[in-house]
Amino acid sequence: MTTPAARGFASLAVHAGQEPDESTGAVIPPVHFSTTYAQDGIGGLRQGYEYGRSGNPTRTALQAQLAALEGGAHAFSFASGLAAEDALLRAALQPGDEVLLGNDVYGGTYRLLARVLGPWGVGLRTVAMSDTDAVRAAVAAAPPRLLWVETPSNPLLRISDIAALAEIGREAGALVVVDNTFATPALQQPLALGADVVVHSTTKYLGGHSDVVGGAVVLNDDALAAEVGFLQFAVGGVSGPMDAWLTTRGIKTLDVRMRRHSENAASVAAFLEGHERVARVYYPGLAAHPGHELAARQMSGFGGIVSVALESGEAARRFAESTRLFTLAESLGGVESLVNYPDAMTHASVRGTDAAVPVEVVRLSVGIEDEADLLADLEQALQV
Ligand code: PLP
Repeated sequence: MTTPAARGFASLAVHAGQEPDESTGAVIPPVHFSTTYAQDGIGGLRQGYEYGRSGNPTRTALQAQLAALEGGAHAFSFASGLAAEDALLRAALQPGDEVLLGNDVYGGTYRLLARVLGPWGVGLRTVAMSDTDAVRAAVAAAPPRLLWVETPSNPLLRISDIAALAEIGREAGALVVVDNTFATPALQQPLALGADVVVHSTTKYLGGHSDVVGGAVVLNDDALAAEVGFLQFAVGGVSGPMDAWLTTRGIKTLDVRMRRHSENAASVAAFLEGHERVARVYYPGLAAHPGHELAARQMSGFGGIVSVALESGEAARRFAESTRLFTLAESLGGVESLVNYPDAMTHASVRGTDAAVPVEVVRLSVGIEDEADLLADLEQALQV
């Protein structure tokens, strides 16, 4: 359910699935910790709740919020982004099916496909997903069952054309899945652009405070949704009540946070672009970025992640270890700024593969601190 007056994105973020508690009027819906529910006679369930793995009101509230924000009919929340990806892939694929994966995606997605689903008979091919012609050729050569698109991609911020890829997928009978973790629905709405499914690591911007791990699948197709829902129940990778509640709370401020992240990231990108120690800046908001025009069309802001190449791997490692306000840590999307060295941290599992990240690259998750403090920190770290 959605509060009738909530229509715009920021209003939905605050209100969708968040009606005051019916029995007490509590404005903030309570966290329901109970693992089991009283039955009014055998099978007499109140509002369908039976057992915590199959359903929980706090999780329902989060799922309603996620569905509203992505403009999808169904949303499912999971214990992590990878648990969400796994449930979707197992719901959509059978042994013998093949996935066409962008060659610049989160390393864990590659690992899940190559090392978990691969041995069960799921095939994997990679392609430069931001090169629509290359995707068209790869699909024509052998139609895959599923196209996995991450845009902007992690960590090189490549931009893929969601509408064009959705069209290619539709013609080939392939499901088009978009990992919307970097952009979030505040900046990009893949279902409206024609994608079939959106997945998230809600651990990142949706949670927004680096204090809860989670994932989500949002989609419109009823039959596929029933399969994903069945796996959520039958395998059990659900989000716990407290995790669901924290994610819900984070989402309420998503709109304002994404604006601030984008503003700060634009300043950081402009500062780094002009810096003598920097070889290259990857940020879709920069006019020089090859995906800039496409990003301006399909996104309403350019997001909070900036990657940068220094002159050598050694310089990149030194820079990543020298910041003070930017904390050296995995993950991204929290209010605090983080710095990550992908080759040895987030993307270590794809070293030596098509998805390997150049050793000169450092990824910055630009937080919502004061711009002047962020730039001063980067300047001192580049001088070390
Ligand atoms: N997708 C992207 C783009 C990510 O960056 C991550 C994690 O870093 C994931 C998915 C996996 O999510 P989780 O770590 O919540 O399992």
